[in-house]
Amino acid sequence: MIRCTQYLMPTTKETPSDAEVVSHRLMLRAGLIRKVASGIYTYLPAGLRVLRKVERILREEMDRAGAQEVLMPAVVPSELWRESGRWEAYGKELLRFRDRADREFCLGPTHEEVITDLVRREVRSWRQLPLNLYQIQDKFRDEIRPRFGLMRGREFFMKDAYSFDVDDGAAAESYRKMYDAYCRVFRRMGLDFRAVEADTGNIGGSSSHEFMVIADSGEDAIVSCVSCSYGANVEKAECLPPEAASPAAGTVSAKGGPPPAGSGPAPPGAGPCRKVATPGKRTIGEVSEFLGVDPASLIKTLLFETSAGDVAVLVSGAHDVNEVKVKNHLGADWVRLAGEDRVRQLSGAPSGFAGPVGLSVRTIADHSVRTIAAGATGANEKDAHLVDVVPGRDFVPEAYADLRSVSGKDTCPRCGAALRFSRGIEVGHVFRLGTKYSEAMRATYLDPDGKERVIVMGCYGIGVGRTAAAAIEQNHDGDGIVWPISIAPFEVSVIPVNVRNRDVADAAESVGNELSARGVEVLLDDREERPGIKFKDADLAGIPVRVTLGEKNVAAGFGEVRDRKTGETSRVELPSLAAETLALVTRKKAECRP
Ligand code: ATP
Ligand code: MG
Repeated sequence: MIRCTQYLMPTTKETPSDAEVVSHRLMLRAGLIRKVASGIYTYLPAGLRVLRKVERILREEMDRAGAQEVLMPAVVPSELWRESGRWEAYGKELLRFRDRADREFCLGPTHEEVITDLVRREVRSWRQLPLNLYQIQDKFRDEIRPRFGLMRGREFFMKDAYSFDVDDGAAAESYRKMYDAYCRVFRRMGLDFRAVEADTGNIGGSSSHEFMVIADSGEDAIVSCVSCSYGANVEKAECLPPEAASPAAGTVSAKGGPPPAGSGPAPPGAGPCRKVATPGKRTIGEVSEFLGVDPASLIKTLLFETSAGDVAVLVSGAHDVNEVKVKNHLGADWVRLAGEDRVRQLSGAPSGFAGPVGLSVRTIADHSVRTIAAGATGANEKDAHLVDVVPGRDFVPEAYADLRSVSGKDTCPRCGAALRFSRGIEVGHVFRLGTKYSEAMRATYLDPDGKERVIVMGCYGIGVGRTAAAAIEQNHDGDGIVWPISIAPFEVSVIPVNVRNRDVADAAESVGNELSARGVEVLLDDREERPGIKFKDADLAGIPVRVTLGEKNVAAGFGEVRDRKTGETSRVELPSLAAETLALVTRKKAECRP
């Protein structure tokens, strides 16, 4: 049993101005964390208890899935990162520095290189595989905008696991095991989550799923099918080509592939393309209104600078270009929208007037452009647009591809049912890496015939602090945090409303001791504070069950048990107070079953 008078849990009323999201505010107010520098925190005792509980669940589920715990260093020599090619590719999130001997190092933002180096040295034979190694370790990412407290810190704890297999089939099995373990982890934390298809980003690899805690404050937009199990990050969500998605076309299947790029004849009625004056009309809204045409028949032209050179991307005016899809289509390391000056250089006009006709920039188009029979687009000239523009006749893009973001009108790419949009917090991410790292770093094994083969890898991350923060985003009310009991800093708070009343104090001690003896985690509020303050602090801290010992109740032989989440309170005779409390704790634990 822990006593408030001897415990560092400094609660505050004020909300610091830089705390934009609820979890950040409540973690500060409940005395769980304190900021040391931007994105860098000290975990106070109660905050650390929460993290340790998250970690315990992670360890239990990783062990159950057959993974073995290791611990790698935070400081990683640059040579390993050069071998994988990420020393150059990773960007400024990688904090690099030199030691006294002028050797280069980084603070590990993720540990594929270090683990692959270990495994290539220790694994020789197929008999040693499969192997899954995990750690719970301090990561550093020099995030451009650290914010939201533990949600996007620079220094943070991550559980990262890495699997090593003989071939793709075995790797798929390892991936499935981790996917299942992740589902158990988040269920045990009592969280409402979805696993969605995701982009592989900086880590690379062939496919991946993100585990998203559903919360309005989430930084990610996700779609999920109302009928089948399909779900995806909006960055990744597939948009079927129009002929595959529209029932009218009927014959083409999702994988059937589109007809050749814009090869059809001009539609009847579409004359030659001609220029019209559009003074000051730059945006899709302005142009469509001015010309009196549907935004869907505008050919929006966005100019990008990318690691693969300048690229014009076309999309129907009814849609938005998806930069992640553009980046993946080009196989580029980075893409960014061209600034005003570059737009003028490339198109000869201010932004808002670029178009594909006569443009001497590599051009790719979203499928939505192919179905525009006679469209309007920028004339590459200030205050002018072209109308009756026919794709395939007036311009031919290098390729048509899925380059737009999913919209409210799209349907499930798997089953055609409606899609639901929601927001989520990415708490976990699993990747099928294939041989990206093992090939670059020569991690091989000898098969039963003595032939050398490349190990097939997977990697799997869960942010410890971010998961705790996400739990708060999903579970709070006007009074504070409402922790799922499995990750609450304490299970029960015992509040003697007046510690100077001997009977009250004794009753509190005795119920607290009895609960502790039965393995319940108790915080006893033995402070000489007004009851109102104690109740407020217990609510703020989100302790799931509160036992209150009031003067009148104790004098009559009673105490109270209250559920933090529902506010339900019951008056219980003192001799059965501990048992009743334990029963409520047990019921709450049952809400956190895998
Ligand atoms: P994000 O897209 O949010 O920046 P990420 O995709 O770069 O995250 P991963 O490389 O997939 O992150 O890392 C695995 C897990 O580590 C994430 O799912 C998340 O829970 C956690 N994580 C990543 N970055 C941070 C951060 N800056 N602060 C706290 N946790 C983080
Ligand atoms: Mg991720």
